[in-house]
Amino acid sequence: MSDCIFCKIVNGEIPSAKVFENEHVVAFLDISQVTKGHTLVIPKVHKENVYELTPEVAQQIFEVVPKIANALKTTYNPIGMNLVNNNGEKAGQSVFHFHLHLLPRYGEGDGFG
Ligand code: 5GP
Ligand code: ZN
Repeated sequence: MSDCIFCKIVNGEIPSAKVFENEHVVAFLDISQVTKGHTLVIPKVHKENVYELTPEVAQQIFEVVPKIANALKTTYNPIGMNLVNNNGEKAGQSVFHFHLHLLPRYGEGDGFG
């Protein structure tokens, strides 16, 4: 999708701080860090939301999530981590290319929840 900001990140048209990349998936730091190490995991293929994910794409995303979560855990030393995914404007989705938020948690006052 030519006007999708996350497709532009996939294509390297706009910069991002990449945490992980393989053939199917990219993970990069959120531009507006809710907590330190806040990361987004996205498929390279444009899928608007969870309803559009095929089982194959869902698998490609989730099979790398433990590796990325462990890398964030090692780097940032959080005491917990939330995985969050918003679908639809009313659910808080603002970028309409599927993304999974990985939110490292540091205890009370860490900015989330
Ligand atoms: P949503 O609200 O759709 O669940 O989350 C979208 C996320 O994308 C937000 O946390 C927002 O900060 C992040 N975001 C929006 N534009 C960019 C961008 O250009 N680069 C990066 N790295 N993150 C972005
Ligand atoms: Zn896209």
